[in-house]
Amino acid sequence: MHRNPEVSYHEEETSQFVYETLEAFGNLELSRPTKTSVVARLVGAGSGRTLAIRADMDALPIQEDNDFEFASQNPGAMHACGHDGHTAMLLGTAKVLSGMRDRIRGEVRFLFQHAEELSPGGGEELVEAGVMDGVDAVIGAHLWAKLPVGKIGVTYGPMMAAPDIFEVTIKGKGGHAAMPHQVVDSIAVGAQVVTNLQHVVSRETDPIDDVVVSVSKFSGGTTHNVIPGTVEMVGTIRTLDPVVRKRVPELMERVIKGVTQAHGASYEFRYKPGYRPVINDEEVTREIEETVKDVFGEDTLEIMPPNMGGEDFSAYQQRAPGTFFFVGAGNEEKGIVHPHHHPRFTIDEDALGYGVKMFVNATFRLLDGAERSKG
Ligand SMILES: [Zn+2]
Ligand SMILES: [Zn+2]
Repeated sequence: MHRNPEVSYHEEETSQFVYETLEAFGNLELSRPTKTSVVARLVGAGSGRTLAIRADMDALPIQEDNDFEFASQNPGAMHACGHDGHTAMLLGTAKVLSGMRDRIRGEVRFLFQHAEELSPGGGEELVEAGVMDGVDAVIGAHLWAKLPVGKIGVTYGPMMAAPDIFEVTIKGKGGHAAMPHQVVDSIAVGAQVVTNLQHVVSRETDPIDDVVVSVSKFSGGTTHNVIPGTVEMVGTIRTLDPVVRKRVPELMERVIKGVTQAHGASYEFRYKPGYRPVINDEEVTREIEETVKDVFGEDTLEIMPPNMGGEDFSAYQQRAPGTFFFVGAGNEEKGIVHPHHHPRFTIDEDALGYGVKMFVNATFRLLDGAERSKG
């Protein structure tokens, strides 16, 4: 899989490989809810609840800079986030559980999702296709380079941010750079807008709330003696709390409007909501924590604070209580230190076994645990 990466919405061969591999396991009902996704249902011998487990399968448009014999053979595409590992872990889990059908009470639904890396994302499409119908709980995991192999990272409540996008166009009046009185300088006004946007986080939102506003692209102008009529900027807004999330773009627009008006310019503000924040369910998270302790012991458990990355696992959490967790995949001694989305990203493959054991054991805990509590 690592050798044959396919970018978001183009996972044709990957999903075909997954389909054929699952077919060989037996006991699974397979379907293809979208062109490049696969869902496998394992209906257990006994009746009970339904658990969904999700893995994403897409690669990134990055040229791989590793020299492994299994390095990417698709120029300009690379599994640089570890989604090939997620798919491998879920295939492993499906293999183990499909051989234990007699012992399963309820249903396990394996969701092999396309396009996690590209908004609007495959998660939402799968939910719309009905893959969460009748599901009582959902879990998923991300291999995590920042966390050493041998650790499982668990977060209660908000875990990952809503990664929203904004675009601003500042409209001034172009002209000769030597005659600034005859122009409305879009660059000077744009610079003021960037500076004042910093106040949205530092002066307008509660320091306890987690918020990021970053202008990450600023473009305008062509040469030394022409003041451009417009500049464009693009950036990201990250929030964990849906209430704060709603408020930030309103504050931003107020600032942009005020600054541009003060200088006789005008603006366009476009806000593009990304994925929802990943917010973990209290009870499912406790079961995941207990699974870590049961299977590996206390030392493996790492209770982690939230981070401002985004994940479309949140789409499934709209339909059922769910928990996303991290599987440690870094290893400094082996030189496995590069971050996700880096051309030299890789994982310690020992992590894959941890992921499979987590999924298999959490399945029994989440399906049978409910049975227990029903008495
Ligand atoms: Zn990624
Ligand atoms: Zn990822």
